[in-house]
Order: sequence, then structure tokens, then C-alpha cells
Amino acid sequence: MQHFLLSAAARTLSLKAVFRMGEDAAYRTFCELRWPETDGEAICPRCGCTETYNITSRRKFKCVACHHQFSVTSGTIFASRKLSFTDLLAAIAIFVNGAKGIAALQLSRDLDVQYKTAFVLAHKLREAMALEQASAKLDGIVEIDGAYFGGYVKPENNKADRKDRRLLENRSGKRQCVVIMRERKGRSLPFVVASEGEAVPLVRDHVGTLATIHADEGSGWDALHAGWDTHRVNHSIQFMDKGVCTNQAESYFSRLRRMEVGTHHHIAGPYIGAYAREAAWREDNRRVDNGSQASMVVNAAMASPVSRQWKGYWQR
Ligand SMILES: [Zn+2]
Repeated sequence: MQHFLLSAAARTLSLKAVFRMGEDAAYRTFCELRWPETDGEAICPRCGCTETYNITSRRKFKCVACHHQFSVTSGTIFASRKLSFTDLLAAIAIFVNGAKGIAALQLSRDLDVQYKTAFVLAHKLREAMALEQASAKLDGIVEIDGAYFGGYVKPENNKADRKDRRLLENRSGKRQCVVIMRERKGRSLPFVVASEGEAVPLVRDHVGTLATIHADEGSGWDALHAGWDTHRVNHSIQFMDKGVCTNQAESYFSRLRRMEVGTHHHIAGPYIGAYAREAAWREDNRRVDNGSQASMVVNAAMASPVSRQWKGYWQR
């Protein structure tokens, strides 16, 4: 039988399709994505043995060689899951279909689960989406740009009482800079820093020395000329100068702003990096049909280790 998420029917993945397939088929889907090399037959995560006893009633396996008991989600980001496999797939379908992201509150209503369950699940999906970004290396033409999020200071009602919010002493100190490195027709890598210039060491880690960098006139980027063939476009004059532009970086920020304004309202604070990486994944996969997107997320989730940040989050 062909894998559901790879079938033609899944190209327009709907919640109806997820619920119609039922719990057994949803479970098979997770097995096949966890153990593709054996077509979904369990492999002991401790010793690699492919012979297991199947404890069908509890959807668990026991290794013939080392007697280790495990499930399809053991050792993955979905370890100690509370939701059914159908609900997990439904959550993923809802999540990938939200071009501007999905609020945990909406996910909890749509799935009829507690808010905290939806909140943690959404963050685990973001973590899975970011799995490959950590080790990525960019090449070719790479656009680099930064934008500031958070730290909004509300102006006083009376003009006479207002402070100059451009001055450092009148800011909240909560403002954070998201820097995007975006390969033309390729991948996007976001980072959270205090100011643009602080991203230069990160560029060193993630952009090949043979790459050509396009950046705007921001003085934080002056240091890039020493390491790369760097071209600048002065945005106070024009947006494109002889083919040099940061339009792809701008598209990324446009999506991140829409996620902020339309869905999460504030994406500053401790989770800004998670939202920034989610936006990069959505940008890079925007032309991929939603069935394949869901498959990619399940795949990444099954390849992601138990989350250090979100494991037992509410028990802390
Ligand atoms: Zn074993």
C-alpha cells in the first residue's frame, strides 16, 4: 500500500482526509516515517535489532535481543505524547495550512485539547521544522538583512510628555533584531541578535566564503566586505541597484510581520527565535503542496530527538 501522505489524494491534505483514515492508518504513517528502511517495521532504538515482539494492544514493541520496550515515538520529539496519532496528524495538517502561523489558542479549539497541550505541541512542531537549519551552509548569492521586533514603547498621551523613543535610554531594552540570511532560490536561515553587526560571526559560520553577499547600507554590514564579495544597495535611494537587492530578505520579514500582526500579536520575548525559524521554513516551502509539507514535518519530528526545551515543560 502506498504511503498516505505521499499519495495523490494527500496533495491537498484536509482534516477530513486525516480523520477518515482513522487511528490505525495514522499509526502506520508514523511507523513508516520513523522506519522507512524497513517499510515501517520496528527497529530497536537501543541495539538496532530488527526483530521485535509486537505488543499490539499497547502499540509497543519489545526487542528480541535486548528486551528493551519502546514505541514508535520513543526517543523522538513526540515521546510521551498525550494525543492520538490521528490528532497529531490533524494538528500537523492545521499547522502547515496556516501561512501566517497558528495560534495555540486556535489549535486547542480546533482539536478540542487543553491550551497547554496545543501550546507545547505547536512549539515542538516549530522545533522539528528548524531541525535542518542548525547545520545549514549557504552559497551562491546570499541576501542578508535585519529587522527589529518587540520592545514597543507606547507614546504618552500629551505631546509635551513624550520622550524621544529613538534614544537608547527611552527604549524598553526588550527590542531584538532578527537577521535573515537567504540564498537566492534557496534556503533561509534566521538568527536573533541584539543588533545587525552582532550577526557577522554567524554569517561566518553559515555562509561559504565563495558566496556573494547582498546587503543594504546598514553600517553593521561593513565588516562583511573583509570576508566575502559583498555588494550593497542603499535603500534610501533605491531598492535594486544593478541587480543588487535584498528583496527576498524583505519577503521573509513581510511574512514574519504578518505572523506577528495577524496571528501571535507579539512575537518578541523568549520565543522569537522559534517563530523566526518557523517563518523561514514556511517561506522556503511555500510552493510545496500541503500534503508534502505535512509529510516533511512528520518526517522531521520523527528524526528530532526528545525536546530538551519542551520535555515535561508543564511539570517544571
Ligand atoms: Zn534491542
